[in-house]
Amino acid sequence: MPQDTPSTAPEGREAPEAHEAADENATFPPSAAFAAQANAQADLYDQAAADPTAFWAEQARKHVTWKTPFTETLDWSGAPVARWFADGTLNAAYNAVDRHVVAGNGDRVALHFEGEPGDTRTVTYAELQREVSRAANVLSSLGVEAGDRVVIYLPMIVEAVVAMLACARVGAPHSVVFGGFSADALRSRIADAEAKVVITADGGYRRGSAAALKPAVDAALETLDGGPESPVQHVLVVRRTGQDVAWTPGRDVWWHEAVEAADVQHEPVWVEAEHPLFILYTSGTTGKPKGILHTTGGYLTQAAYTHHNVFDLKPETDVYWCTADVGWVTGHTYVVYGPLLNGATQVIYEGTPDTPHQGRWWELVEKYKVSILYTAPTAIRTCMKWGEEIPGRFDLSSLRLLGSVGESINPEAWKWYRRVIGSGVTPIVDTWWQTETGAIMISPLPGVTDAKPGSAQRPLPGIAADVVDDAGQPVGHGEGGYLVVTEPWPAMLRGIWGDLERFKDTYWSRFKNVYFAGDGAKKDDDGDIWLLGRVDDVMNVSGHRLSTTEIESSLVAHEIVAEAAVVGASDETTGQAVVAFVILRSEFAADAVQADVQELLRAHVAKQIGPIAKPRTILVVPELPKTRSGKIMRRLLRDVAEHRTVGDATTLADSSVMDLIASGLATPAPK
Ligand code: ATP
Ligand code: MG
Repeated sequence: MPQDTPSTAPEGREAPEAHEAADENATFPPSAAFAAQANAQADLYDQAAADPTAFWAEQARKHVTWKTPFTETLDWSGAPVARWFADGTLNAAYNAVDRHVVAGNGDRVALHFEGEPGDTRTVTYAELQREVSRAANVLSSLGVEAGDRVVIYLPMIVEAVVAMLACARVGAPHSVVFGGFSADALRSRIADAEAKVVITADGGYRRGSAAALKPAVDAALETLDGGPESPVQHVLVVRRTGQDVAWTPGRDVWWHEAVEAADVQHEPVWVEAEHPLFILYTSGTTGKPKGILHTTGGYLTQAAYTHHNVFDLKPETDVYWCTADVGWVTGHTYVVYGPLLNGATQVIYEGTPDTPHQGRWWELVEKYKVSILYTAPTAIRTCMKWGEEIPGRFDLSSLRLLGSVGESINPEAWKWYRRVIGSGVTPIVDTWWQTETGAIMISPLPGVTDAKPGSAQRPLPGIAADVVDDAGQPVGHGEGGYLVVTEPWPAMLRGIWGDLERFKDTYWSRFKNVYFAGDGAKKDDDGDIWLLGRVDDVMNVSGHRLSTTEIESSLVAHEIVAEAAVVGASDETTGQAVVAFVILRSEFAADAVQADVQELLRAHVAKQIGPIAKPRTILVVPELPKTRSGKIMRRLLRDVAEHRTVGDATTLADSSVMDLIASGLATPAPK
């Protein structure tokens, strides 16, 4: 480490060829040293293109260990529900844990856990095998059988990973519900999944204090319990904070007592490749969350393949850290299954980035010598807002690769991320994917692609994605349209839990035989893909289609703006009008005058994009409504802009934000 040390620069990393001039369209090629050592080389595209189905079969054999080898690769006769590797059998937990112990790597650290209060725990693969086996025995003793659903509602602690793997080990699909969700959100998910067991904790640490979790489970079950449709038989409770909990005898079981008493031997339940692995609800940015169903063999194949190639993981030397919570799909694929299948050593952190200080993440990078960091644009923009002197206090030289996911990363944030966090040299992979796709679909390959800030660039080898027009025809270079996936892929969703019609309707009805992702995109002159935001969010101003992402990027590129969200509000003259909500950088916030800010930024957008994109109204706000995964909920802002009652906000991270915004809008901004 680092792998890309050139012989001429002993103490650090080689600055790659500078194509970084003032040029807007600058590209950032990997250094020669990085390119030479990269897991994925350019020929991967050729291999996949030659025979995509054979390519996936090869990846499935390379990255996954099968109990019974598969002989069929893809069966698409039941479209849109695919079957991949269907006659093979395997176990996900065996693949994530046991096989590394079998291979002699039991002493390798799997997890460096850091609690928010600073407590730590190191778990090797051998220890993880014992923990998961014990927990699997506990689940079996509570009556959980293959096919039964288990809801997991835990903080970001080791037991969250163990619980997911224990479910997988007994063939019980898990449904992880983010620990910040309310009792209501939890209740609807437990009921929808008809879970037999819920795994929770007394509480977890967030923002410096112990936040209770169990009361939400008790409240959720109160209305379900006793009723005819009460599915939950047991609640397993991890003791994390030691706070008092209410106890329902017979139903509630302490995790530590049960696990300590359980046998360390457990024979994994071998399941068919199409056996359900998990149900996960989407973040609800565009509407009511959907219970996305993923199965085992195809999902694991693409999780491990993408993790190996996109993050360039070297399991012997890298320390990997994905900051996502296990409550999101990113936490499933790139905290649990991808990295563990690949035998990675990784960091997991319980708390918030600013507890007890705004440098906590960077302190952890320094402490554990993190070499690969995967996070979300919202976190990067927050760090920009706090100021670069904070990461500047820490030694970040161990980092050799950075990743981004969740939203478009605006070029300004991309460049900051690379310059400040990546010491100006690390490749950045901007990865586009969804809960539905299960794993990364569009991304640069870090050792191959000349990176373009703001663009996710190309479908990965083996993935067929395109941008099409209203008629479903591929658009030309330089044109925009809808992002679609034109061929089945191994980690694709197998449906919406319990609602095949909604599955067909949501993803397969807009265009014939292709998957419609719901996102707008454009191809640039090189054919590289740029994500433009949700199709639902695209604005139509005087017949011009405008992208939220482009206008937001332009706003954030102005020095006074820290964050921006743009929506279209109905307008009598133009059909729709652009309304922008901006958060100012702290140094400008104090004495900003709304009207001046509006004029300044309107002129800026007009100059950068064109007069048509100029927001009609720009509102300075203290916060933006975000989901718990950090995505901006534009539909709520649209409600505000159109003076409607604000819609379903149950997945908001902080529900008081909407009041804050509404109160700030008491005095209408000048038109
Ligand atoms: P819902 O479907 O319930 O509205 P959601 O779409 O926010 O919620 P996720 O599956 O977590 O739920 O998010 C996937 C979406 O995130 C993508 O469809 C896309 O809009 C956005 N996204 C993810 N990664 C990127 C990226 N690298 N660039 C641009 N957008 C991205
Ligand atoms: Mg979505």
